[in-house]
Amino acid sequence: MTEHPSRVLVLNSGSSSVKYQLFDMTDQSRLAAGLVERIGEAGARLVHTPAGGERRERTDVPLPDHTAALRAAADELAADGHRLDDPRLAAIGHRVVHGGLRFTEPTVITDEVIAEIERLVPVAPLHNPANLTGIRTALELNPRVPQVAVFDTAFHTTMPEYAARYAIDTATADAHRVRRYGFHGTSHAYVSRRTAELLGKDVADVNVIVLHLGNGASASAVAGGRCVDTSMGLTPLEGLVMGTRSGDIDPAVIFHLSRVAGMSVDEIDVLLNKRSGLVGLCGDNDMREITRRMAEGDAAARLAFAIYTYRLKKYIGAYYAVLGRVDAIAFTAGVGENAANVRAAAVEGLVGFGVVVDEKRNTTPGSGPRFISPQYASVAVAVVPTDEELEIASQAFTLVSP
Ligand code: ADP
Repeated sequence: MTEHPSRVLVLNSGSSSVKYQLFDMTDQSRLAAGLVERIGEAGARLVHTPAGGERRERTDVPLPDHTAALRAAADELAADGHRLDDPRLAAIGHRVVHGGLRFTEPTVITDEVIAEIERLVPVAPLHNPANLTGIRTALELNPRVPQVAVFDTAFHTTMPEYAARYAIDTATADAHRVRRYGFHGTSHAYVSRRTAELLGKDVADVNVIVLHLGNGASASAVAGGRCVDTSMGLTPLEGLVMGTRSGDIDPAVIFHLSRVAGMSVDEIDVLLNKRSGLVGLCGDNDMREITRRMAEGDAAARLAFAIYTYRLKKYIGAYYAVLGRVDAIAFTAGVGENAANVRAAAVEGLVGFGVVVDEKRNTTPGSGPRFISPQYASVAVAVVPTDEELEIASQAFTLVSP
């Protein structure tokens, strides 16, 4: 008897890296995970970890481009008995950053879908080309298995027009598809659902503010499982203060830097995306390092932390107003899951909103979803670890399962 295909390979192809995870969806277990980084650069390497096995690091294989990277990843998987042409493979799920307005759901990849992702390159110049390379290479390696695109923007397509539109000339905006799309949607979807589970309620009955705080950071207001607002916009630059991105600024800063500092558009792009945020403010973008420096009394680190957490508080307040009633605030991703000091500072002074954090709960390390607010609190504050790869695998598997 042949086994029903139940495995899903998830690929997340970035500009210079490819992350992959192989799942068995019968029990959602992870069979292998890996990362190829610094593709095309000196020091390119592949790190592969089979479930329950030894981590393997390879620097001896040539990794000049994404095709070579995916082939090397496929070889590592095959060495553990997970060949890409294995009939047990049900789908390959791809993270695709920008799906525009067209892709509101996970989508089986066809030539037409590839063409549409390509058409969105002008609004996602860093991400969509890398995602497409991953898709094309995976299609070459296994043209028979269904490939599914899961879009970072999809969860946010439910935002009402008044939240998604910028107040600029409509004809110009429409001609160039300028509007707020939002990103990290897979994470916001997963975490808002898991938060409802933690509350023991149906997702349809719960209003949640999700704070995804990784290197990139975004907030979302989720009402009954539907996103009604999110902090990222046309690109992932808008909103919260991030590791290297400014988040919200007056757009006139750009004109000012161009006219007064003589900077080119490309230079300002690099400034706001790569040399701003925490790194621009204090030279570090790792919250652990910033926390260590604050303990030593470092003024730049303290100010960076204050700006970062103040922006978070402003978004919590805004989304509280947007939702009217908040059942939970969920912190997720690297900073959200680990930095108790960030969580405490972000909700400090919000007791009038019913938002409080219990110090002991907040600072007790844990790994699964957990409450950090006191039992009596009217708004639950929680840490809910995200798992974007599992969410992509689940969505892809659901789509291809008969
Ligand atoms: P990415 O956006 O790259 O997926 P992550 O969600 O993995 O990022 O978050 C990475 C960030 O998480 C790091 O830059 C660091 O600031 C933060 N981080 C990770 N672990 C900790 C920790 N133990 N304490 C504080 N911050 C942490």
